[in-house]
Amino acid sequence: MARHTTFRFCLDPTVEQKVALARHAGAARFAYNQCLRLHLDAREHHRALIRRCAGADAVDQARDGVPWSRFSLINAYNSWKRSEAAGRRFLVTGDGVVEVEVTGLAWRGEVSAQVFEEAAVDLSRGLAAWTASRSGKRKGRPIGHPRFKRKSHTAGSFRMRNKTTGASASIQVGTGDHLRSVSLPRLGSIQVREDTRRLRRMIATGRARTLQATITRGVRRWWVTVTVETADLHPVVQHPTRAVDDTTGWVGVDRGLHDLVVAGTRDGTETLRVQAPKVLVAGLRQQRRLARAVSRKKRGSTNRRKAAARVARHHSRVQDTLQHYLHQVSNQLVKNHDRLVLEDLNITGIMSNRRLARAVGDAAWGELARQITYKQAWRNGQVMVADRWFPSSKTCSSCGTLRKDLTLKDRTYTCGTCGLVLDRDLNAAANLAAWAEGHTRAVQNGAASGGARDGDRQAAGPVINACRRDGTGPHTRVGETSPDDAGTPIQTALQRPEPEDAREGRCP
Ligand SMILES: [Zn+2]
Repeated sequence: MARHTTFRFCLDPTVEQKVALARHAGAARFAYNQCLRLHLDAREHHRALIRRCAGADAVDQARDGVPWSRFSLINAYNSWKRSEAAGRRFLVTGDGVVEVEVTGLAWRGEVSAQVFEEAAVDLSRGLAAWTASRSGKRKGRPIGHPRFKRKSHTAGSFRMRNKTTGASASIQVGTGDHLRSVSLPRLGSIQVREDTRRLRRMIATGRARTLQATITRGVRRWWVTVTVETADLHPVVQHPTRAVDDTTGWVGVDRGLHDLVVAGTRDGTETLRVQAPKVLVAGLRQQRRLARAVSRKKRGSTNRRKAAARVARHHSRVQDTLQHYLHQVSNQLVKNHDRLVLEDLNITGIMSNRRLARAVGDAAWGELARQITYKQAWRNGQVMVADRWFPSSKTCSSCGTLRKDLTLKDRTYTCGTCGLVLDRDLNAAANLAAWAEGHTRAVQNGAASGGARDGDRQAAGPVINACRRDGTGPHTRVGETSPDDAGTPIQTALQRPEPEDAREGRCP
């Protein structure tokens, strides 16, 4: 068993359970902040010591005694929570003598201790990411130092591990009378809204092993995400392995101007065309209206808070619907095609774009690419990412002529050389498929002739996986099959100046 996957359910807690959930989320935030405080204090203390005896250059070496790892952070927190610093009580005896009683953290018994431990683990991960980013060992965008978490009524989460298996497992799904429920240590059985049958069956038949549960507070609801380790997908639903010299079968996936996704083969056959969901199109208009309502309200007023809550609720509703929709689209793509080519997107560059529709559409596209990548890995399929300066829209998919005068208004691509008339987005998808075929051939030729690259300029880049592309950093989430595991060679975006026709205005 190697595949990690998650099942997400919407919780339906009672009033008492809501209080307990909020208490656990608060405890996780508290423990994270306290661990960070302990860490920073220890660092400062050691820095002062070193400065006194060895000079400033040795400051960075002063790591002994400062909690960095998960175990040292857990230990530091555990000894702190029992100490006088965490809580004490003054007792006045009958004859007027004041005694100090060390109580430690008074409320620590009210929440599961696992919450504290997992918060310490989170901090150690944050510190490790920051260190690796600073020393250049970690690629992608720079990672900042962990910061203190704020109190929030609309965010927060905590994590619990599953310690044993079978009937005595600490995290159980659908026990007792309530099949739609999740049992968590200390919190007991909490009802969920969705059907849990699929996960229950997988656990009962030994096809899945529960690893952990993450409980998240959303804007509107509480969610539980159960991470499980499962067996590989059944060979029947996996794509057959292609022959080594097979370069065909690529399907290009392009973002249309009006449609979210247009997929097509090399010869211009359309295999899938999906429109952007209505919730996205109509939701943007509503979001703008709600955001204007916020800006009209007086700062710090109750009405402003209410209006801001309305925006947040609307946003979370759109996001939930969109996420569901993207899963459907990505499933459709990976089920029907074993080789997919996506267009690369410079996500960090996009996020600075001020146009809301574009930003949301690009975020959706990034999420779709992430889903396609891991789902294709599960199905033994391949994903390739084309360079973002590859002029997929302006090239003729039939004869390869580059039309520089193509504007955004042109819905149809008409070639003056060979007379091709094709839908603009489909032409781009066909180009992507053709590019992937050429790239596969170039890589094979390169392997055969010891590195010579067949004159294909696209094939010159380093081969990395899709999730680590330029400027995005590792996007593989905890518990997901990393694209590394799939072994699919994927082209990266190169550090080259962009030609003016590479980035076009595109909206979902
Ligand atoms: Zn042509």
